[in-house]
Amino acid sequence: MTTCGCHNHTTCKTTAMKKAEAYCAAHNLRLTDTRKQVLAIIWQSHTALTAHNIMEALGNSQPPITYRALQFLQENGLIHHIASLNAYIGCPHIGEAHTGQMVICKHCLTVTEINTPLPQLLTDASRNGFTVEDTHIEILGTCKHCQSLA
Ligand SMILES: [Zn+2]
Ligand SMILES: [Zn+2]
Ligand SMILES: [Zn+2]
Repeated sequence: MTTCGCHNHTTCKTTAMKKAEAYCAAHNLRLTDTRKQVLAIIWQSHTALTAHNIMEALGNSQPPITYRALQFLQENGLIHHIASLNAYIGCPHIGEAHTGQMVICKHCLTVTEINTPLPQLLTDASRNGFTVEDTHIEILGTCKHCQSLA
């Protein structure tokens, strides 16, 4: 099983789903049944899920539907794509401007999002007039729980 930084994941999931619904309602975004189902599957835990995992959970034999739902959720900031795992994780900071650095356990695939300010890094990246539009920082390692199993 995975370790989750939250005290009560049921509350954590309910809060995330409510936030997503409120955000979509406020921004005229259609959180269709499929999109909501995909989001709920992703929020099942703090473990990153691949599109394949999600399709299996959906029992969905139509990949385009799943991919379109994932695209919608990602474009609207409800989930994040973890490039190093080619997997997805729910965002607990929907609608807030944040840098979202991902701390990833390579053993259990638990992902924790941290939002540490990156002033120096961004300043350095902006030298020579470069405009930073987005940052994707993924930090890989071993979580406390997996260390205790070693
Ligand atoms: Zn949780
Ligand atoms: Zn986020
Ligand atoms: Zn772990």
